[in-house]
Amino acid sequence: MIYKVGVWGATGRMGQEVASLLHSGFTHRGALMELGDVVASSKKIRSVDGVPTRTPEEPVFQDVHVWIDFSRPEATLKLLDHARCPIVIGTTGFNEAELKRIKEYASDHAVLLAPNMSPGLNWILKMLSSVSLSAKESFDVVLSETHHKHKKDSPSGTLKAIKSVLGERDFNEPQVNVARAGEEKGTHQIQLFSECEEITITHRVLDRKVFAQGALLGAMYLLKKNQPGLYSYLDIDI
Ligand code: NAD
Repeated sequence: MIYKVGVWGATGRMGQEVASLLHSGFTHRGALMELGDVVASSKKIRSVDGVPTRTPEEPVFQDVHVWIDFSRPEATLKLLDHARCPIVIGTTGFNEAELKRIKEYASDHAVLLAPNMSPGLNWILKMLSSVSLSAKESFDVVLSETHHKHKKDSPSGTLKAIKSVLGERDFNEPQVNVARAGEEKGTHQIQLFSECEEITITHRVLDRKVFAQGALLGAMYLLKKNQPGLYSYLDIDI
């Protein structure tokens, strides 16, 4: 089976990573994904990896089976107004009203909403969500993150996801350290301190390609699932 994939936010740091993987043909378990529609916010960049881009206002080049969105919340909403198929949303920083609109779209189409598409970080979230400690209240929790200085939302969606998983497991309210510096691709650290021991888990992104690969695996998941609904990366068997 060949799936056509649309990239929304195609000229951005993440959009270019996704387009680049698709341009050489991304295969997974016998299925092939190819670049379909490529959308950017301006006409300044006319192509990504040799494939022509269009603005959201220009006519569609071809129908796609699934969209991948790494843009801005207001741009994601624009996509929801036009799309008619599953969407992988990697964009972060949505407010309550924007999340409500995403949920509405998900009542008719499959949507994967994941603030961090890296399989490694999601293994950590899964691990934390299954932790069973008898004395969680005896641990002080410190969450730290560093991202490049261009990142708009702070703290990141990833840090919020870690905090939420720990909250569900009844850990103490964490202390949070956030830095936006240089061109750092994304580091998250979870530290648990008790009187007699310390646990530190660090996840560091070395190459943004990991998010792009994760998004494409997520897209495959939605296409195979073929059911409306709002999915998280924890639903995917990585
Ligand atoms: P970027 O600034 O490099 O790219 C943003 C893209 O969105 C550009 O192509 C821009 O043209 C497009 N865009 C902006 N406003 C638009 C509009 N109104 N209409 C149409 N297109 C518009 O940003 P980036 O580093 O690629 O990150 C994009 C998003 O993805 C951010 O929210 C970031 O936090 C998030 N992100 C998520 C993950 C993840 O794993 N989920 C990983 C990295 C980044």
